[in-house]
Amino acid sequence: MTHVPTVEERRSTKVITLYDQRREREDVRSIGAAVRRVKEIHANAPDSLLCTKIVTKDDDIVYDSTRNGDIQTWENEWERAKTRLTSTRETHNCNYGNGGCVADDLCPDCQFDKQMRGDNHATE
Ligand SMILES: [Zn+2]
Repeated sequence: MTHVPTVEERRSTKVITLYDQRREREDVRSIGAAVRRVKEIHANAPDSLLCTKIVTKDDDIVYDSTRNGDIQTWENEWERAKTRLTSTRETHNCNYGNGGCVADDLCPDCQFDKQMRGDNHATE
């Protein structure tokens, strides 16, 4: 017999909701979907709601309403952090191995290269 992984064994992003007497766990497709779900939960929150959490598929708790506060504020920060990481990784790779060198803030060597490329293309 072949072993087929069940839904329970598959890792996914989760929204965890804690109430006075119970705890709910809901699998969602992405962090974005989790954020929407948390907003819905808080919009209709009963008094017994204690805490909402967003847990990634790697089991990292990225959002905890008692620690991170308002979901909208957290979402804004998270979007900014994501954009920063993406732009740093994808748009610039320092030729001089300078770890602090990113597209928005080039190291002196890269700034020099950029100037040479931009200003001297007419010369040989
Ligand atoms: Zn550089």
